[in-house]
Amino acid sequence: MSDTTELTDLTVKESLTALTKGQISSRELTEAFLRRISTHEADVHAFITTTPEMALDMADGADDTRSQLKKEDKPIPALLGLPLAIKDVLCVDGVRATCGSKILEDFKPPFNATAVDKLLDSGIVILGKTNTDEFAMGSSTENSAYGVTHNPWDVKRVPGGSSGGSAAAVAAKFCPTALGTDTGGSVRQPAAFCGVTGIKPTYGRVSRYGLIAYGSSLDTVGVLARTAEDVETIFRLTAGFDERDATTVDVPLADAVCRDGADIKGLRIGVPKEYFIKGIHPEVEQSVRDAIETFRGLGAEIIDISLPHTEFALPVYYLIAPAEASANLARYDGVRFGLRTTNENMMQMFTESRGVGFGPEVKRRIMLGTYALSAGYYDAYYGQAQKVRMLIKADFEDVFLKVDAVAAPVAPTTAFKIGRHGDDPLAMYLEDVFTLPANLAGIPGLAFPTGFDNDRLPIGMQLMGKHFDEETLFKLAHVFQHHTDWHLKTPVL
Ligand code: GLN
Repeated sequence: MSDTTELTDLTVKESLTALTKGQISSRELTEAFLRRISTHEADVHAFITTTPEMALDMADGADDTRSQLKKEDKPIPALLGLPLAIKDVLCVDGVRATCGSKILEDFKPPFNATAVDKLLDSGIVILGKTNTDEFAMGSSTENSAYGVTHNPWDVKRVPGGSSGGSAAAVAAKFCPTALGTDTGGSVRQPAAFCGVTGIKPTYGRVSRYGLIAYGSSLDTVGVLARTAEDVETIFRLTAGFDERDATTVDVPLADAVCRDGADIKGLRIGVPKEYFIKGIHPEVEQSVRDAIETFRGLGAEIIDISLPHTEFALPVYYLIAPAEASANLARYDGVRFGLRTTNENMMQMFTESRGVGFGPEVKRRIMLGTYALSAGYYDAYYGQAQKVRMLIKADFEDVFLKVDAVAAPVAPTTAFKIGRHGDDPLAMYLEDVFTLPANLAGIPGLAFPTGFDNDRLPIGMQLMGKHFDEETLFKLAHVFQHHTDWHLKTPVL
């Protein structure tokens, strides 16, 4: 255990076991990750901010706490001494939270997001804040004001987005796990592009207090790690009712299901024909179909289903998300947060601060959203989109009478080259076709690796489940990972 390259290979589970047995200290583990970050971060650029001093302080604190609690024979917090990274849209007290935007370049929140707070209570060590598309708007992490993140499998390619920094950090072994957020696919798609596992929880399962808002009826806080078991461990500790987020619901969590002997016999997996459409990369389709056959071999029942309103998810999402974003981003006026230009006239200060502070994609969304919400157009666009959203949700409710989970690709392609969709926002939005429906319906989705394409780029599939039934998704993915080794492959940097 003394070789540092080995320490960064450890999963969450292995790290916690080694910490518990006293084979390693949190300091050693944290130093190993910090060293790996400083060696390879220039190639990957997964972070907007690293917090090495804070991390080492936290690690020393965790080591002291452990020996103290041991002496007193008291229970040890579940994640004591575990290093992780946090997407830069979640607030950590005293650490700048930029949201990938110039407008929040110097914003240091004076409080923790609830999800972060809960993990701190469990004993984590924070390594830094990961790169993201500006205000989580994007599918490639190219829309960050702090430069693009590179996919560790091929640094000429994007890591996906918007949680591309978190996914790349886990794939590059800069951390064993990271928090992300998913409004329309931003945990699942980068997980697929980087060959890691990621959960988008049910809407209302994990508090968004301290998550800087993008689309409030869609935003969720998720987790990325290498294995379903690790993702489940962290997810469970972030979940639960929070009086600071009125959308959280107090639905009890089932016991952890990623255990030896987990059984998926008889579980019914639906395969929707609308997700295997023209335009999907043949190698992606093949890999997902092979994975579905693996599930069949493991005892699951495979059922063909239809989700007839799937094709409307894209236009519906790209009305609702920008509409909500335009309202959420109205608060950045140069007065209360972040960047302020110097102008004689107040109106000019508002407009110039926003003009200088926001990047092009955010401006595009604010214009789209403001238009869709404007008097005279509201019913035709936003109102109509909300109605179709209900049809998409009803599709899922219907199929979940017959199946326990829905299996689908995460994205139509594998990681694309940096700059490929540069001047074509519509092509970029098309990357999200398969992930948006789960957000519109509020259901959970879990992405995990199922293979590689001919360029040796990871392919992922997703399982979507009933509201508050993350459990079935974890169980399926865990059993799959027990019998396959795609999730164990890591890129060479
Ligand atoms: N790619 C989608 C968008 O740009 C989803 C982003 C997200 O989930 N945060 O809106």
